[in-house]
Amino acid sequence: MTEGTKRIPATLIKGDGIGPEITGATLAVLDALGSPFVWDEQTGGETAIALGLDPLPDATLESIRRTKLALKGPLGTPSGGSYRSVNVRLREAFNLFANVRPARTIVPGRYDGIDIIVVRENLEGAYTGDEHWEEVEGDPKGAGVAIVRNTRKGAERIVRYAFDMAVRLGRRKVTVVHKSNIIKIASGLFLSVAMEIAKEYEGRLEVDSMIVDATAERLVTKPEIFDVIVTTNLFGDILSDQVAGLVGGLGLIPGGNIGTEAAIFEAVHGTAPDIAGQNKANPTALMLSAATMLDHVGEHEKATRLRNAIEKTLQSGQRTGDLARLPGTVTVLSTSDYAKAVIANLG
Ligand code: NAD
Repeated sequence: MTEGTKRIPATLIKGDGIGPEITGATLAVLDALGSPFVWDEQTGGETAIALGLDPLPDATLESIRRTKLALKGPLGTPSGGSYRSVNVRLREAFNLFANVRPARTIVPGRYDGIDIIVVRENLEGAYTGDEHWEEVEGDPKGAGVAIVRNTRKGAERIVRYAFDMAVRLGRRKVTVVHKSNIIKIASGLFLSVAMEIAKEYEGRLEVDSMIVDATAERLVTKPEIFDVIVTTNLFGDILSDQVAGLVGGLGLIPGGNIGTEAAIFEAVHGTAPDIAGQNKANPTALMLSAATMLDHVGEHEKATRLRNAIEKTLQSGQRTGDLARLPGTVTVLSTSDYAKAVIANLG
């Protein structure tokens, strides 16, 4: 940290699987940049379970309560069993209602010129954990039932967040994505609330709406019609991964979980257990998440320097293996060598 740099306390969770590798690479770049963050390192997920702790330890929650700011590697939740997703629990604990996932073409690939932000409602919909078994013809587990619950307040909050963000960033259009033709009450409420609020933004923002299945098709055949998408939890989860695919894959998409109590920045991807411990994961998504975190605390100049260095590195053909298939002459780098290349391009 250079002299005169602001010091901002922030919680660091390195995460599971590839988490420690991509976090190590991101911290190296942030150090070289002279980042303001003073880290309080905490644990979670499978790493915490292996230490005999709850997957979301109290110390981790207390740290985020204090700093109101975190950079987080991916956390795994054992499938099945009684564990609830740590990621979902974190969102609930800090009321992180908005999940913002921007996808922009950095390296031209199958699609060029993509610049789409998915704003996903992060607390409601199909992700409330309100599930139960129902007996069918004597089978006590004959039906698995999950409740989809969208509230008027929740819809208002995420839609206003997306519209205000779009106006602030000078974006041209917001598309409200829904499935109100089938899920008439839950998805219908979201759509009607959004279109009602859209009237307040007339003249400042174009707002349209689209059914989720049509959106999935249009994203592939005509992605240029999209600018900002706002949608409910499950649709946002799926569509943001699809949009990631348009710009080269999950290794490139940052994410911010923004709430009333805190903000937590993380990559969209998971723990990638298939490549963990091999020093070949792409740390770009977490580095870009760190750039968003710098913007969040008002350090725009450093955020821009970091983004420019990442773009320069990728465009010069220095990439991790997951991006080797994109056009151009490519030098495949390890996670740690890629971090060194980004540092060299910080200028
Ligand atoms: P995943 O995102 O971990 O992996 C999907 C595929 O993408 C894999 O082939 C992986 O190798 C590749 N990939 C992902 N990130 C990459 C990167 N940075 N560089 C190169 N390749 C990358 O998805 P999954 O396999 O469905 O999930 C694994 C675990 O991660 C699960 O336990 C899941 O619950 C968890 N998860 C956590 C988060 C989070 O913490 N926010 C998000 C999604 C999944």
